[in-house]
This record gives sequence, structure tokens and C-alpha cells, in this order.
Amino acid sequence: MTPLKPVRGTQDILPNESRRYRLVEEAAFCVADRYGFDEITTPIFEFTEVFSRTLGDTSDIVTKEMYTFQDKGLESITLRPEGTAGIARAFISNGLQQELPIKFFYKGPMFRYERPQKGRRRQFHQVGIEILGVATPQADIEAISLAKTFLEEIGLKDNVSLELNSLGDVASRSAYDQKLRNYLNNHKKGLSEHSLKRLKNNPLRILDSKDNGDKIIVANAPKLQDSFNKNSNNFFAELCEGLYKLGISYEHNHNLVRGLDYYSHTAFEFTTKDLGAQGTVLAGGRYDGLISQMGGPETPGVGWAAGVERLALLLNTDIVTKRPIVVIPIGRDAESEALILTERLRKNGYRVDLGYSGNLKKRIKRANERNTIAAIFMGESESVRNVVKLKDMDSGDQKEISLDSLEQQLQIYK
Ligand code: ATP
Ligand code: MG
Repeated sequence: MTPLKPVRGTQDILPNESRRYRLVEEAAFCVADRYGFDEITTPIFEFTEVFSRTLGDTSDIVTKEMYTFQDKGLESITLRPEGTAGIARAFISNGLQQELPIKFFYKGPMFRYERPQKGRRRQFHQVGIEILGVATPQADIEAISLAKTFLEEIGLKDNVSLELNSLGDVASRSAYDQKLRNYLNNHKKGLSEHSLKRLKNNPLRILDSKDNGDKIIVANAPKLQDSFNKNSNNFFAELCEGLYKLGISYEHNHNLVRGLDYYSHTAFEFTTKDLGAQGTVLAGGRYDGLISQMGGPETPGVGWAAGVERLALLLNTDIVTKRPIVVIPIGRDAESEALILTERLRKNGYRVDLGYSGNLKKRIKRANERNTIAAIFMGESESVRNVVKLKDMDSGDQKEISLDSLEQQLQIYK
């Protein structure tokens, strides 16, 4: 029989990798907690409409990347490709508008049908935050500052940089849309096939095309900011001033537009040069139109999401775990005593393995492989005298100690 394989683009996160994921997720949670955020968990699947109605019919996610299927009740269901739409849906479903402003943290798996490569999976993990109900740039500043603190906390300071842009409000965007269309229509010949398709539905996305021919054309395109009205200009100026006051440096990237259609004003990304093509580790922006577009009350929002896989790849230290203590019974009769002692030590906060397979030599070999810090040998004769042998695995020193004072002796290994 051919062995079963994992689905393309999915992976098993083995213990070493799990430790890195946990470190990233816990750091994100702890920092968000300090910023006054509360955790929310929404379902991994939603009605397809939750995403199709909000992410925009022309976004990459909706057009190419969604895992959509019909369930047995003939409902169209989609595995969530991102977190914001589900949280906006939850905000409406739970009638949370009374509680505004709201600051949410979330984490968990996301699903996108993409071509798997380094830092790009079909099931991947994000941590993210959303601030709902704040229309002023204070929220954007808080979101960006939280992102930066989080990245610093996991040791990413010098190898990530912040790129910032503003998409302006809806009025500024539609004024620009026409100018951009006119310009691009005059340069159609040089555009990639992909961009030609976008020209009709979502010309803004052409600004961040990776195609070299497109890039040359985009370089001379009219600037979005030149179409800004007063509101858009003020918003961006206030954001930049706030970041300056907090000492957060950024690069203004005029072509940063982000993949999803629901953004307005702020768009930002933290990128790194250390991951090759998949250089964006954290990305976000403001989505003032999203909740009303879903049928909820007009509610401004801003947030970001970070890719846990990509951040885990960047962590440059191996994460050390607590070295275990092993309890090794010698002889059959000692086994139940050993079992009881093991449980006792675990309840007292020690990380303990019970050496229960193979002969004594094998058990000691296994203890070494596990990087055990100390071994406790329980034999028949010792058991009768209420003592055990305690061996320090680094020094090799071994001594007999009374069972009653065991925890006291083990303090140094805690
Ligand atoms: P990209 O340009 O890499 O496709 P995106 O704009 O689609 O990114 P977002 O929707 O903003 O990404 O998601 C936020 C973050 O989630 C990304 O910056 C990245 O770190 C991570 N991410 C997105 N898609 C994947 C994926 N398929 N595999 C792993 N991480 C991902
Ligand atoms: Mg993408």
C-alpha cells in the first residue's frame, strides 16, 4: 500500500517548529495584552459570502485562493483565508456595537489555495489585531506601534522595516481612479497580461505589480497622493506625526496598495530582506467601509496580521525547553512506586519522564537522548529504606537521598 501523504501546501509542525510558533504567538498575545487588547476566536469556516462580499470580487483571494466547498446542507462554505472578515461578522452577529471602541487580538490557521514555496503555504498561521470604532489616526498609530513592539520582542529589530502609504478616503480614491485609468490606457502596450485584466476592474492593484515592465510604467504614473482632498491629507499627516513622536521610522512607499479591496487611508507592511521573495511578515491597514459593507452599522476599523511561518523562519535562536528529570525503576517491583513518585514530582511542577521501556541500559541511553538533567533510580532495596539514587546527568555525581527530602534536593533543577 502506498503511504498516505499530507495535502500539498500543508505541513506537520513538529516539536522544534512548534516551539518557535508558540514563541511568536505568545509574544504577540503578551504585547497585545499590554496594549489593552482582548482575544477573540472566530470559526475556521464561514459562509462564503462573509469573504466574497467583503474582500472584493477582484482581490486575489476571492478570485483565485479560496477553499470553497458545499457542505451536506448544500451551503457554500469557505475556509477562512484571513481573520478580519470573520471578526467583522462576529462583531455584527454578537451586537458588539455597544462596546465600542473594541480592541481584539486573534491567532490561528488560515487557508489559501496558493503555489506553495518558502514562506507560502496553503494552510498557514497568523496572529493579528483589530481596533474597531476609532475613526482617528490614533488607532492607526497604536496598531503600528504594537506591531513594532511585537517584532522587537521576538528579536526582529534591524532586519525588518516599515513601509507606509495612504490610500486616502473614498472620494480621493475615486478621483484618482479615473486619472490612473487614463494614464494606464495610454500605456497599455507595455502592461503585463495580468495587469491588463486588472485595468478594467481594479487598476489600483497594478501599482504594486511585481512585473518589471509594469514597474517601469508605474514609476511615471500619477501619484495617488496628488488626488488627495483635505481630509485624506490631514489624516495621513497626523499619522506620520504620531509615528515620528514615538520614534517609529518608516519609508513612504507610494505604490503600496495591499491586496484587499476594503482598505482606506492607512496601508502598511513590515518587510524583511532575509526571506527572499516572501518578504512581508506583517501587513495591515484601515478598513472603514468593511463593517457597513457586511450589513452592520457604519464602524471604522484598523488592524494587521502577521504570518507566523515567516516570523518563525526569522527567529535566529533555537528555543530551549526545560530539561526533564527521569525516574527509572529498577526491577518490576519498583515500577508502581516509580509511577507514584513521577506523578508526585509532576504535581510539584517538575518536567518528568518515566523511564519505562527496555532494559536499564536502554533507559539510560534514552535519558541522554532526551537531554535529561537528572535521573532518579528506584530499586527494590532502596525502596524498602525509603530512599532513591539521584544522579546529576551533567557531572555524573550520584548520591543516595531520602524520598522525603527529594523535592528539596531537586530545587536546583526546577
Ligand atoms: P503576499 O503578498 O505574501 O501574498 P498578502 O498580501 O496576501 O501577502 P496578507 O493577506 O496581508 O498577505 O496576510 C498577512 C501576512 O500573512 C503576510 O504578510 C504573510 O506574512 C502571511 N501570509 C499570507 N499568505 C500566506 C501564505 N500563503 N503562507 C504563509 N504566510 C502567508
Ligand atoms: Mg497573497
